[in-house]
Formats: sequence, structure tokens, C-alpha cells
Amino acid sequence: MTTLPGKPVSFWLDSTAKTTYPQMENVTVDVAIVGAGITGITAAYLLKKAGKKVALIEGQHIAASASGHTTAKVTSLHQLIYAELIDRHGEDKARLYGESNQAGVEFIASTVEQEGIDCDFQRNDTYSFAEDKNNLDKVQKEYDAAVKLGLPAEFVTDTTLPFDIAGAVKFNNQAQFHVRKYLLHLADLIPGDGSYVFENSRVKTAEEGTPCKVFTDNATLLANDVLLTTHLPIMDQGLFFAKTYPQRSYIIGAKINSAKAPEGMYIGVGNNYYSIRTTPTEGKDLLLMIGGGSHKVGEKSETEESYQELERYAHSHFEIDKIDYRWSSQDYESFDQLPFIGKLTPANDRIYVATGYSLWGMSKGTMAGMILSDLVQGIANPWVDLYDSLRATPFVTKESMKNNLDVGMHWVGDRLKGLTSWSTDDVKPGEGKLINYKGETVGVYKDETGKVTAVNATCPHLGCIVNWNSAEKSWDCPCHGGRFTCEGKIIQSPATKDLEVKTLS
Ligand SMILES: Cc1cc2nc3c(=O)[nH]c(=O)nc-3n(C[C@H](O)[C@H](O)[C@H](O)COP(=O)(O)OP(=O)(O)OC[C@H]3O[C@@H](n4cnc5c(N)ncnc54)[C@H](O)[C@@H]3O)c2cc1C
Repeated sequence: MTTLPGKPVSFWLDSTAKTTYPQMENVTVDVAIVGAGITGITAAYLLKKAGKKVALIEGQHIAASASGHTTAKVTSLHQLIYAELIDRHGEDKARLYGESNQAGVEFIASTVEQEGIDCDFQRNDTYSFAEDKNNLDKVQKEYDAAVKLGLPAEFVTDTTLPFDIAGAVKFNNQAQFHVRKYLLHLADLIPGDGSYVFENSRVKTAEEGTPCKVFTDNATLLANDVLLTTHLPIMDQGLFFAKTYPQRSYIIGAKINSAKAPEGMYIGVGNNYYSIRTTPTEGKDLLLMIGGGSHKVGEKSETEESYQELERYAHSHFEIDKIDYRWSSQDYESFDQLPFIGKLTPANDRIYVATGYSLWGMSKGTMAGMILSDLVQGIANPWVDLYDSLRATPFVTKESMKNNLDVGMHWVGDRLKGLTSWSTDDVKPGEGKLINYKGETVGVYKDETGKVTAVNATCPHLGCIVNWNSAEKSWDCPCHGGRFTCEGKIIQSPATKDLEVKTLS
């Protein structure tokens, strides 16, 4: 078994207190917001401020899922995006994309100031860099596109990175923050005067009506409008699971002397790229964060390799002693590069969704919160059409066809997984494996003491077979990104039910 370096927890979670909000009760509010990441918390904060009674309902703990496991760069420079947006959607839409994301950045900046939020907020520049000449033309093209759109871009060849680069597009005056300090503060402003924050309250479904109903196992909440801000919507009717795909990514954190740390926030371009930024710690050193190793959820079992690769890169590129933290998470990539924000389906007037941030959800999740808040209040918003969740979507692009074909292949082919192993003796301590138990595919985890935990390996979302993730010790669904603990408990949606626990005789 491989031993990985660093504490296996996100720095953002490790440096903030655990939240303890009550479970959902049978209450009536104006707006129910299901899912408390950056999208749900921003929407709830704005709606409460606008005088609405809101309930923010979280299945686990607030700001602890994707939004608690991010790199938290707050920027409208999304690696390489603008040249492709112009090609694909035209200059006007690309300009709106830039404006709306820049508005997300400025919203965070002004909210930090207005609410006096102590969250290590700092203005900073962002860079998308080509480490060698092979990718320089992509960076140059991105710079040209950004300038055409009036974005705050510069082309540079010198940075404060401790290694040479071929060139970079730089956006000035972007921002970074401690994402949980920011979100916990906003969430704290919500309860009271008929508004609530609920935790440990997994919503099973919602029904549209007058009023709408939101169901957990133990309570039913009534609301005029419902926002599904659960990362991927938990209700499948809008087919957002087929318009996006889940991408997993890894981060390590290492203390670094501030004199040796780079200034600014960086992301490489090309096949194996790395994302780099620093953040203050309690001590005098900064924490250097390096992200990378992305792959589709559930498609890689030996996930330790992703951390090992980040560790190698960190030691070869920066002066650090050891790795202090490691964590990972996932985000939904949209096939047409635009998030989906709006109604769940054309038949829904009161149930809304937001998803598909393609690993740039600090600006997009914030902007989505702003749009959802406007939609519920009937306020005109300049970006509604661009991100309309009901827009004609590219089911027929090369990427989406391949992805949905892959999902179909998983659905059929993965049923053969585990058929060759018949006994828990085939599973080593510390390992998870699919086995055939009386004709059923069962996920078996054996801990270091030899204790076996078994679960039905069929994902309750849409019936694909889950895969073992060795670094995180979880069962991950390769179709739509649902993740479960060794005991079958949901870690990440879209599933609303746990994996069934099996007793093997
Ligand atoms: C490794 C990594 C690095 C990243 N770095 C950056 C970055 O530097 N900058 C940037 O802009 N973006 C970054 N992103 C992307 C960004 O973190 C995400 O896009 C964003 O956090 C998504 O926010 P969200 O509110 O949609 O989802 P989440 O934060 O996942 O929130 C959804 C919430 O819904 C809850 N939920 C789900 N189902 C239910 C249910 N049935 N009932 C109740 N609650 C439910 C979940 O528990 C969760 O808390 C990164 C992502 C990853 C994975």
C-alpha cells in the first residue's frame, strides 16, 4: 500500500471550525435553496438581503463539498477560454461571458468590504502560462482574444515563478481569498426573521406547485420557489447529467517561505498543466497550493499517482521541505463551455438550477447566485440568455457524443466488472475491489485489520457500476460523478440515496 504525504484534508476545512446548523423542519419560506456551496450560499444571502424568507438546506455541512475543496482563485481568466468562446459562440457572447465573470469577481470584492469579512481577501494578478514554446501560440491567441473583448489582459514573459516560462497571458486586479472564511460568514447572516440554514438534511426530491414542496426523509418544507444548487441538479428531468461530465482534480499544500513564494495565481496550459497559488497560514510561512492530475471521475483507480505527480512537480519547481496537505474534488464540465443557469425544464416555472462551471466556480458560482436571485425576483439580468439552462444544447458535439457513449459503455460493460473475483480473500487489506457475490456485483473494502465492508456496487443515481478510488478510499461512479464512502454513504451528488450495505455470509 502506498503512503501519501500530507494531511488528507482540505486546508480550507482544516483552518476553520466545523459548522453545526440544525436539521430541516416542516417550515414555510419564500425560497428553498437546496445545496450550500458558493452558488447556494450566494443566492440565499442575496435573497435574504432582498427581504425574502429563505431556507438553505444542506445534505452534509455547508461549504464543505466542491466549494470547500477548491483552489479558490477568483478570476475571469479561466485558463484558455476566450479564443474558443469567440470561435464557438461569437464575439458578443464571449464578451458577455467576460463581463459576467468579472462581475462575479467584483461582487465578492464588494461583499467582503461591505460585510467586513475577514477572509484573507487579496487583489492579485492571474496568469495562464506556457512553460515551453510548444504551447505559446495558445497563450498568444488567448491574449489577442481577451484584448479584443476589452478584458484586463497583458502578454508577459517574466513572472515571479521560480522557473522560466515561454510566455503568459496575465489578467490584472483579480483576487484570491479563503473560500470557507468568506462562505461561513455569509451563511451566518442568513438565519433569523423567518430564514434558516439547515444541515445534515439530504433533499430527496422537490415537487413544483403552489406552494412547491421539498422533501427530506424526516420533513417537508413549503416554498414559492426552489433553487437546486446541488452542484449537478439532483432531479434528472433537465438531463444536465448528459450535458456535462464530472472532472476530478487534486491539490497538495506545502509551507513555503514567503520570500521564495511566487506572487500571483498561475495555471499552465497544455496536456499536463498545474495550478499554483499561495495563501496565508497562522504562522509566518505561506501555504503553496499546487493542483493538477485531472481525470474523469471514476475512470482512474490508482489515484495515488495523481498526488505523487504533484509532489514530484512541487519538489522540482519550488523550495519546499515537505507536503503538508493533500485533497481532491470534482467539478462538472459543460460541453459548450457555458454554465447552465435557469429553469430545471421548460415545464418548470419555480424550480431552478445552476451547474457546469468547468472548474471555475468561484466567479461562476457567485454570478449564478446573482442570476438566480434576479430570476426569482423577476429582475432583468443581462446574462440570463447566455447561460439559459434551456438553451439548445450540443448533444451532437464530438465531446458530448463521446462522453455519452462512454456512459452507455460503462452502463453495459461495467456489469462485467468483478465477475472474475468471487471471494473477499481476493481483496488485500486497505484495498477496495468489485467481486461477484451470488451473481451480484458487490464493492468490498477490507480495512487494515481485515474487517470487510460490502456494498451493492450499483449507483442509485442511474444504475452504473461504481469504481474504487484508492487514494480517497471511496466508490466513485464513472457515469455522472456520484461518490460514496466505503460504507456506502453519499459523499457527492447527484445520487440522493446511499449505496445499499450488503452482509456477506
Ligand atoms: C480541485 C478543484 C480546484 C478548483 N479551483 C478553482 C479555482 O481556483 N477557481 C474557481 O473559480 N473555481 C475552482 N474550482 C471550481 C469550484 O470549486 C466549483 O465550481 C464550485 O465550488 C462549485 O460550487 P457549487 O456551489 O456548484 O457546488 P458545491 O460547492 O459542491 O455545493 C453543492 C452543495 O450541495 C449539497 N448537496 C448535494 N446534494 C444535496 C441534496 N440532495 N440535498 C441537500 N444538499 C445537497 C452538497 O453537499 C454541497 O455542499 C475548482 C474545483 C476543483 C474540483
